[in-house]
Amino acid sequence: MRFKLIVFDMDGVIFEHNNFWMQLHEALGTLHPGLELTEKYLKTDLKKLADEVIGKLWKGKPAEPFFNLIKNAKYNPGAEETFKKISKLGIKICILTGGPIHLAKRAQEELKGIEKVHGNELIIKDNKITGEYNWIYEDIDHKGEILKDICKEYNIDPLEAIVVGDNDEDAFKFRVAGRSIAFNSKSKELKKAADFIVESNDLREVLKFIE
Ligand SMILES: [Mg+2]
Repeated sequence: MRFKLIVFDMDGVIFEHNNFWMQLHEALGTLHPGLELTEKYLKTDLKKLADEVIGKLWKGKPAEPFFNLIKNAKYNPGAEETFKKISKLGIKICILTGGPIHLAKRAQEELKGIEKVHGNELIIKDNKITGEYNWIYEDIDHKGEILKDICKEYNIDPLEAIVVGDNDEDAFKFRVAGRSIAFNSKSKELKKAADFIVESNDLREVLKFIE
């Protein structure tokens, strides 16, 4: 089968860090309550988690640490070459991430061929975190549904899509797509759900499962 679309997760796949929001907790001095709230609500009530973290813990904090993390995030090895090669094959590239849309947009500007980015938006005004946000999904298992919507937009069958991810919740996309690649993942569940597994953090390794 000829694949028409590849959808990349961002944290831990395109970029080295595997959880941007935890990095931001650290930078803003909210790691302890942040970990507690994440443990409590990540898999049960994502809206409650966002309301508690963004609407309360982070509201009014300076945005500088956020922008510094966006600016300093490091790509995994081979990112530039990999995206160039995939776009040469005529395969459309998207990012679908629970991480910040600001960073997905940076990748879109700097790497070749990324057509669309879907991520979460932390709303910032006058250099402060406002406490407001635009989250792309309400539940952690919505990633699969969003993948279906993206395919619909491009008028392609999900079976013609490849997904690349590293975390448990990426498994929801793996079940929808025609081909799935677990990338540098520590998740046993994800590896079990994957068609192919890349055991390094070099993005060029993904290429051999695309052509
Ligand atoms: Mg990830």
